[in-house]
Amino acid sequence: MVKYRSISKSYGDVQVLNKIDLDIMPGEKVAVIGPSGSGKTTLARMLMTLEQPTAGTIEVDGEMLWHEEKGGRFVTAGEKHLHRVRSKIGMVFQHFNLFPHMTIMRNVTEAPMYVLGLDRETAEQRAYEMLSKVGLADKLAEYPSRLSGGQKQRVAIARAVVMRPKIMLFDEATSALDPELVGEVLAVIKDLAAQGDMAMMLITHEMDFARDIADRIIFTDGGSIVEQGTPEQIFENPQSPRLQAFLSRFR
Ligand code: ATP
Repeated sequence: MVKYRSISKSYGDVQVLNKIDLDIMPGEKVAVIGPSGSGKTTLARMLMTLEQPTAGTIEVDGEMLWHEEKGGRFVTAGEKHLHRVRSKIGMVFQHFNLFPHMTIMRNVTEAPMYVLGLDRETAEQRAYEMLSKVGLADKLAEYPSRLSGGQKQRVAIARAVVMRPKIMLFDEATSALDPELVGEVLAVIKDLAAQGDMAMMLITHEMDFARDIADRIIFTDGGSIVEQGTPEQIFENPQSPRLQAFLSRFR
């Protein structure tokens, strides 16, 4: 579903990612853990074409997203192609980025109508189904400012998933929330994971959550994938001293 091949990324002289190879299979749930600054967000942002790699390629669903052109310039293959590839990917950030001047319903129908070209009735029906799934069917006519942080983040999830992406990226989706609101958002993500054939890449500092939800855990440190395995391998039997040290902070 997603193939990173020998992906490197530098900001000026600082190398943030070093020759990363990573495959995510269709439907697979992959959690990415690692210390702050280890390059987790950069990994996700390249998949959303918000950052470009310094070297390597990324393929999504058999189509090239980033590749190197002659002369070392990094390109995506044209607007139309990019549009199609990106439509397979949904992302939820730490901050909700809802449209403040639109109702919850409009926040969720905007992309289905104007990106997918659905008529209003179909878009609203899909949006209603999604908002029901995240427990917000009673908030359709509200504006974002009237919702709690946890509710806003659930709208952000509905807004991404309503596009029916093949892979969802969650980048520390709960780290900006008050502690008492974290649980409701994690529960929604868990529900989606349990239902779906949608692949997920979850960048998280919530170790219990990663353990519960992921098929595979990736541990990044210093711009490399240092260790990966099933939750059991990673949490019960970590091999590398760096992973052992990282996990000891959560005990
Ligand atoms: P955290 O867990 O704190 O979110 P992370 O593992 O997601 O960290 P990244 O956000 O990917 O790490 O950042 C990796 C490194 O790249 C950090 O040292 C960061 O300061 C640096 N960095 C990120 N974005 C930029 C940028 N636009 N310009 C310069 N340096 C950057």
